[in-house]
Formats: sequence, structure tokens, C-alpha cells
Amino acid sequence: MRKTKLPSGLAVPVLGQGTWYMGDEAHRRADEIASLRLGLDLGMTLIDTAEMYGDGASEKLVGAAIAGRRDEVFLVSKVLPSNASRSGTIAACERSLRRLGTDCIDLYLLHWRGRTPFAETIAAFEALQDAGKIRHWGVSNMDVDDMREIERAPGGDAMATNQVLYNLTRRGIEYDLLPQAQDRGLPLMAYSPIEQGRLTEYPEVLDIADRHGVTPAQVALAWVLRQDGVIAIPKASTPEHVRENRAALDLQLTAEDLEELDDMFPPPDGPEPLEMI
Ligand code: NAP
Repeated sequence: MRKTKLPSGLAVPVLGQGTWYMGDEAHRRADEIASLRLGLDLGMTLIDTAEMYGDGASEKLVGAAIAGRRDEVFLVSKVLPSNASRSGTIAACERSLRRLGTDCIDLYLLHWRGRTPFAETIAAFEALQDAGKIRHWGVSNMDVDDMREIERAPGGDAMATNQVLYNLTRRGIEYDLLPQAQDRGLPLMAYSPIEQGRLTEYPEVLDIADRHGVTPAQVALAWVLRQDGVIAIPKASTPEHVRENRAALDLQLTAEDLEELDDMFPPPDGPEPLEMI
């Protein structure tokens, strides 16, 4: 598994597993747990969840999937902005830890910007680090100006990542947010890398996939993973999808493929507000 480094120097896999909507339906539970465990077997040991997903159901499912295998996993979860006060962040983290069945989250993110000043949430993250309840902290859905503000806040330079929407159909970050992060050695975590499955429906992507004997989802993932400093966290709840996604790391897109994809999904030619799903 290819890895990238967090600013702390810790190496994490560039391909992880998302879990939004996992744990919502009892009849899918066994397949979802088996998929996450297969992903671990294949080296996709970074698992992303959030207190928001299914109102805790996703964290509970992840807890069941990683039971007995906690040491293999780089576990990411998120605090809601409505909980992101100093005491609220600590209480939310403790609830997440109980659902996840662990005593430490590897990377704890502020899910998006709310009303609480960044300095207050960062102080809570630092208290959680001191207590050994989280190892690293980061943010999600932060645009260029938010990132500058966080970096200027006390302790803000310890931020480990920004998790943002990035895929072939959402390339706005290539203009400024991505180069800004790359300059600082800060990996970005690309969420919805297959555009929630919609990228499998473009005939142009299918043509390129056919040329390589792979699937459109694999082209979409290989495209996100073509550059350093980007971590992709596709969500897959079947073993076939998990295996395909892992194999996307071995797919090398050619210059011709990339040109065709640029024609179909042009890169930004100016600043664009960060999109969110
Ligand atoms: P995604 O990963 O782009 O797409 C997931 C969809 O694609 C699912 O329907 C999945 O189906 C399907 N899929 C997965 N692998 C496939 C394959 N090889 N071939 C065909 N279809 C495939 O979208 P996402 O779940 O929105 O994003 C990924 C993760 O990012 C989330 O789960 C969550 O952890 C995180 N996220 C974070 C934020 C944030 O605000 N920070 C926002 C959105 C998402 P199956 O489930 O049937 O396999």
C-alpha cells in the first residue's frame, strides 16, 4: 500500500475506506462489516467515520468491524460543529470512543465550520491529545481563507489534514486549496472520490476504463490518487467494490487518458468556492 506522511511524520495509506450510510440498515450490517474487514486485509487500514453518520450508527458499525483488529487501523472520526465548543468537543469525542469501542481516535476532525471560534475547538483537541484520547486533529470542508485562519489560531499549525470533496467532477481545489496544502506538506483527504457512484455513469470514463480492462470507478480513483499528498476514502459495501477499489492503486493512467479527462472535466481556471456534499 502506497503511503503519504502527515505533518507529524506518521505515514498513512493513500487509500482508505469511507463509511457514510453504513450501519443504517440492519439487513446490510453483515456485508458492511465483512467489506470493511476485507478492506483491512487488503491494506486499506484508514477508516473514516463521523458522529453525524446515522447519528452514531456508522461509528458503532466501525467499532464492530475493527473489534480485535484495532492496532491495524488508522481511525478517523469527526465532531459536529454544533458540538465543537471546548466542553462539547470533549463530550462528543468520549461518546464516539464508546461507540467505536476504543480508547483513542487516531485523527479527529472538525466536520465543517460552525459558530465556535477555531481557537476554542483547537484547545479542546489539545486537551484530548493530552488525555491520550486522540492522536492527531484536523478539519474538513475548509476553504483557503478558513485554512489561513486556522493556521493563525493558537496551536493551529498542528493541523494534520483537511478532508474535502474532490473528484473528476469537483476540481475547484486544484486552483488554490490543493497547491496551498502541498506547499505546506499537508495531505488532503478526498471524500466522495467516485462522486457517490455517479462517476461510473459517464461514457467517456467507461471508454478509458475499457482501454485498461478496468471499471469506471477504478479510473475515477486512480485519477484522484495520481498525485502525491492526496488520500482517497471511497465507501464500498460489497467485497467486489472493495477489491476493485484496492486494485485502482495499481492502475497507471496515461498522458492520453489524462488529456481526455481534462477535456471532459476541465480543471479550474480561477478560484471557485469549495463545494460540499
Ligand atoms: P463515494 O465513495 O464517492 O461513493 C460511494 C458510492 O460508490 C456507494 O454507492 C458505493 O456503492 C459506490 N462504489 C464504491 N466502490 C465502487 C466500485 N468499485 N464500483 C462501483 N460503485 C462503487 O461517496 P461517499 O460515500 O460520499 O464518500 C466517501 C466517504 O467520504 C464517505 O463514506 C465518508 O466517510 C466521507 N465523506 C465525508 C464528507 C465530509 O463532509 N467530510 C462528506 C461526504 C463523504 P456500495 O456501497 O454499494 O459499494
